[in-house]
Amino acid sequence: MFVALWLIRGREAYYLLCGAAALTYAATLAGLMVPDRGAGLSTLLFIGLGAYNSYLLAAVRAFEGRRVMDAWIAALPILSGAAFGVFALSSGTLAAGQTANSVVLGLSTLGVGLVLWRTRGSRAPRSRRLLAIFQLAYVPAYVVSVMLSLSIDVGIDWLALVPLLSDQLLLGVLNIALLAMPGERAEAALNDAALRDPMTGAWNRAGLAKLEASLRGPVAVIVFDVDHFKAINDGHGHAAGDAVLTALVRGAQAVLPPGAHLVRLGGDEFAAVVPGALDTETAREIAERLRRLETPQPGCTISLGMAWSEPAEIGLAKALSRADERLYRAKAAGRNRVAA
Ligand code: GH3
Ligand code: MG
Repeated sequence: MFVALWLIRGREAYYLLCGAAALTYAATLAGLMVPDRGAGLSTLLFIGLGAYNSYLLAAVRAFEGRRVMDAWIAALPILSGAAFGVFALSSGTLAAGQTANSVVLGLSTLGVGLVLWRTRGSRAPRSRRLLAIFQLAYVPAYVVSVMLSLSIDVGIDWLALVPLLSDQLLLGVLNIALLAMPGERAEAALNDAALRDPMTGAWNRAGLAKLEASLRGPVAVIVFDVDHFKAINDGHGHAAGDAVLTALVRGAQAVLPPGAHLVRLGGDEFAAVVPGALDTETAREIAERLRRLETPQPGCTISLGMAWSEPAEIGLAKALSRADERLYRAKAAGRNRVAA
């Protein structure tokens, strides 16, 4: 299935690595059924078992566009094989090697599960969290398996079923989570496409509506509009006009405080929504920074209007229309200024 998806969906390495994980695992399980296998084949098989975790992590890293391999990821299968080989040879029994291998595999499964759970920056996609949960759910199986092989009484006989059932259940769900990841990514991309203005990357009106639903406390609203934008279009062409709009958004994103949102209300009109109880001075400072933004058109200026929203009293829509009124007051007063 992973190979088919690899072919259908633009030969993304992610699918091949998922397929490689499944194939290695299946081949290893088949190999483990060989009776009286020697230490050599066993070591190879335990390298294969260790490789599953590496492939899994490599697949997720490929999916996220990161470097697929790191030394420690490549070391996992070697450690798995070495644990078996060293202990089997030094004790003279395969069972000791197997126990050592279970300890190493259990630890590497735990490690990979935790790495999958943890994400830098933004929230982890749900399917990746699912993947982490089911990877971590393997760990008790290793614990039980080590206890059994050390003849530690695990108490209840049916607990011995844990390692056996884990594979049947967990591997299935794990693969579903792997299959769900591209779907979730596509959904997020569609969402973004629907909520953002494609040219500037600012939120559009639909994005604004979604933003409004998520706003809690007070916000300052700064509406701004390019002065005589039509003249830029008429004099230098629409491409030059577009360049002004994109430069304004890029510049605004750089000067707005973290957590602020930028919305393209339409044409050459934008709104900055800044959460927090900002006093007039701070808001005016932010507006002034916006006013002084440079664009590729020398002498191009903007006019701004400010207002405040207090969810309980003044909704965002009301604040936007107040800021808009003030923006037109700024235009009437001669443009290139802030009206609060
Ligand atoms: P004012 O100072 O009163 O704001 O004057 P203005 O010329 O900026 O006002 P107006 O709203 O009449 O002009 C906006 C123009 O923006 C009209 C429209 O053709 C143009 N426009 C709207 N969207 C885009 C776009 O995406 N790219 C470009 N280049 N122009 C656009
Ligand atoms: Mg304008």
